[in-house]
Amino acid sequence: MRVLKFGGTSVGDPDNIRKVVEVVRSRRGQHPILVFSAMGDTTDRLVEIGRDAAAGRLDKALEKIEALRSFHASIAGMVLNPSAEEALRACAPLFEDLEAVARSLSVLGDLSPAVQDRLLGTGELLSTTLMAAALEAAGLPARWADAREVVVTDGRHTQAEPLFEATRQRAQSKLRPLVDAGEIPVLQGFIARSESGVPTTLGRGGSDYTASLLGAALGAEEIEIWTDVDGIMTADPSLVPEARNIPVMSFREAAELAFFGARVLHPKTLAPAVDRGIPVRVLNTSRPDGSGTVVLFRAPGNGHVVKSIAYKEGMAVLNLVSARMFKAHGFLRRVFEVLERHRVAPDLVSTSEVSVALAAAPSQELDAAAADLRELGEVDLRTGQAIVAVVGERLKETPGIVGRVFEDLHDLRIAMVSQGGSEIALCFAVAEDDLARVVPRLHRRFFG
Ligand code: ADP
Ligand code: ASP
Ligand code: MG
Repeated sequence: MRVLKFGGTSVGDPDNIRKVVEVVRSRRGQHPILVFSAMGDTTDRLVEIGRDAAAGRLDKALEKIEALRSFHASIAGMVLNPSAEEALRACAPLFEDLEAVARSLSVLGDLSPAVQDRLLGTGELLSTTLMAAALEAAGLPARWADAREVVVTDGRHTQAEPLFEATRQRAQSKLRPLVDAGEIPVLQGFIARSESGVPTTLGRGGSDYTASLLGAALGAEEIEIWTDVDGIMTADPSLVPEARNIPVMSFREAAELAFFGARVLHPKTLAPAVDRGIPVRVLNTSRPDGSGTVVLFRAPGNGHVVKSIAYKEGMAVLNLVSARMFKAHGFLRRVFEVLERHRVAPDLVSTSEVSVALAAAPSQELDAAAADLRELGEVDLRTGQAIVAVVGERLKETPGIVGRVFEDLHDLRIAMVSQGGSEIALCFAVAEDDLARVVPRLHRRFFG
């Protein structure tokens, strides 16, 4: 059994959808289970619809719902004729529901996380309805299945955490029989339901996570993540066009890259697979014959100390310098107590006896923590920052690596540096505006 997940661009236009159908056909012998994201940018549009409606701009929200309807209708028309009408009829209640949610939001004016989850889930429900029809029309025994009946989570809306054992049992009882009967289950990524039965989502980009959860739950032999690039690359190809494919990576390297912003994999994707030693392969829907990247428990070296460079935008950097500039016993403990009290989980921390720098996502909690930290010393909180992570298994054992990383960056302001926290990543923070210079320069340094 193999889980195949296709992202938004893979199902965002007719050409790619036809390629997806052929990929699925080529995997028929391996008992595939399919996971789909919403088509194209649908989820972003749904976010906007929610915001518009809650802000009282109902007309705008309804216009955008109409645009989504014609986007899905045009895709159906192009890939599904003559069965497009029937598939669109199946989508109609989803659009009605969307409209009803938008209308009630415009009255209530409050977009709660629970409503947001319900709203965003529509994208995956639409895409799977059309994809199941497209696969069937191509003669494949596709069977639409409801991920909300399978993936069970806690109740943390917009960032729900799956409950693995409950999910495993449901996957076994609801999906295994379909596969055994020779059918190809078609499920939505990203969406789930809490134990109490309320729709939840696994966080933006969470369809990858759905795929690995299902793969782990069913003991898949491999999890395939089909996307719009040739696997995991030496850097984000949208920032570094000359980035190259990495044929093999270790789980640790790929997890670190994902954590530090390489959008190609959702940060939680690898954990369920690692636990069971299931390889995760990242492949390009536009070039299905490429070998992509395979992520394995242990990966052989490839001669490069640095495997890849990741970055995470939209961060804040907080600097705290102790009021008393001397070795203050208990200073760090008090800093971390404040962070814990406000539930701030920094991505990076670097400390000295009298100062602390940390990088975290901006939030009300971070602002509140900064206010409390002012009691301990002088605080400087800057937004518009980015974390850059240089990742490789051999980083730690390579002398002079820090010098090499910063050699070409001497004209830039580095807000903080952190090495050693992770054995395989060297991280630093810079202004977001400098990313377009930093990442390509680093790439040139390590990959020529
Ligand atoms: P999908 O819709 O298939 O889930 P995403 O947009 O979430 O696709 O992820 C794919 C994108 O990840 C690529 O288009 C690329 O711009 C970005 N990306 C960032 N870092 C990397 C990297 N190291 N390797 C490959 N892609 C990366
Ligand atoms: N459609 C969701 C999103 O855009 C989930 C995903 O694509 O993985 O975040
Ligand atoms: Mg993604």
